[in-house]
Amino acid sequence: MSPSDDDRPTTSGTDARAAELAARVRDLMPGVRSDLEALTRIPSVSLDSFDQRHVDDSAAATADLLRAEGLDVRVVREGGRPAVIGHLPAPEGAPTVLLYAHHDVQPPGDDADWDTPVFTPTQVGDRLYARGVADDKAGVMAHVAALRAHAGRPPVGVTVFVEGEEEVGSDSLPQILEAHGAELECDAIVLADSHNWKIGVPALTTTLRGMVRVVVEVRALEHGLHSGLYGGVVPDGLTALCRLLATLHDEHGDVAVPGLRSSEAADLDFSEEDLRADAGLPAGVRPIGTGSLLSRMWTKPSMTVIGIDAPAVDAAANLLTPVGRAKLSMRIHPEEDPAVAADALTRHLREHAPWGCEVDVTVVDDGRGFAADAQGPVYDAARAAFRDAWGGVDPVDIGVGGSIPFVAAFAERFPDAAILVTGVEDPDTRAHAANESLHLGEFERVCLAEALLLDRLPGGRHHGEHE
Ligand SMILES: [Zn+2]
Repeated sequence: MSPSDDDRPTTSGTDARAAELAARVRDLMPGVRSDLEALTRIPSVSLDSFDQRHVDDSAAATADLLRAEGLDVRVVREGGRPAVIGHLPAPEGAPTVLLYAHHDVQPPGDDADWDTPVFTPTQVGDRLYARGVADDKAGVMAHVAALRAHAGRPPVGVTVFVEGEEEVGSDSLPQILEAHGAELECDAIVLADSHNWKIGVPALTTTLRGMVRVVVEVRALEHGLHSGLYGGVVPDGLTALCRLLATLHDEHGDVAVPGLRSSEAADLDFSEEDLRADAGLPAGVRPIGTGSLLSRMWTKPSMTVIGIDAPAVDAAANLLTPVGRAKLSMRIHPEEDPAVAADALTRHLREHAPWGCEVDVTVVDDGRGFAADAQGPVYDAARAAFRDAWGGVDPVDIGVGGSIPFVAAFAERFPDAAILVTGVEDPDTRAHAANESLHLGEFERVCLAEALLLDRLPGGRHHGEHE
């Protein structure tokens, strides 16, 4: 089954150029889809325990796709997985846009959890199923489709950057940006690795939370003691740790660490039923925190105990445990300085040391959030392109509660470039999970939106145009 005609992008009808690009993209989609399927058949899992030759193969396949569009292409490696950089020079006086995606994918997980073969793209209804078919090989193909729509002569310069290790944390991205930053200089950046609000409603991701992870150790004793002989008068490290962890939230479930930033998120329609359905929250369990649900996910801090070192239940002795250790993951406001947040958390933990126990805090890692300056001519052009590609539906600004390390890395390296975080995913995509899929109708809209955006970026210059 292919998307029905009324499911296809339409334009407002006032813009002949938009209609022309829409028709061109529609004609291109069968080829785009078959190239997407070929790319998806390469199991380019970037996790170390998987065969990394497949990641080399997907880099090579990506390079071939870009070369075929007339780009000058190189595969680069700076101590990590191969990234692909392709360049199409700008018409004189026109700006350059950098288009980002990644060609590596998450591990498949258990094959038994998949309803279709993991690396064989399979259409069911209006969705195409396979690992990586959405995250983020559809992002790669959206860039290729936009170039094809312009027959290799877009009115702006285009640099395509396709990373090979996003799913394992973009470890060598700083080195790549350092070594190849000059080739990547640009006026605007489109990072196609996020999601739309829902089927039929496009979105621009304008905020991402940052994060801080710490290990906290609570020491009550030099050595273990008989819990019968000393219990009731001598404290133990594990109970002390539990009491300390309990101070991290107030009675409503809001983070109780003072000094952390928070703000209200955009006012979008998202109900408790939506949350319950998306998260699979059991009927009796209440959401935690206060304020709008979206602000709790996007713009307020969160605190999660993600690990505890303690005697295992089966092996537990009647002992006062000397030391308790826990790892905490704190998500922070998009504009919070991670170092300031880490200090606030460390201070809170030390000040709440139970019963005079020794509290040690080690910051394991942190990451900066992102808050786009979502105004100005590039954003105006993007919003208009999305609106036209979605048949007159305006894009909404959304946040993402998690961090995307490469966004902060690009924002830091190119502080003057307008950054657009777009994506091909929708709430049913199940990126990273079994049965990942791409909505084919939405994918065509994504491709068209990007083709329209290239056409409309401020300062763009159609070939043959004079000053
Ligand atoms: Zn991704």
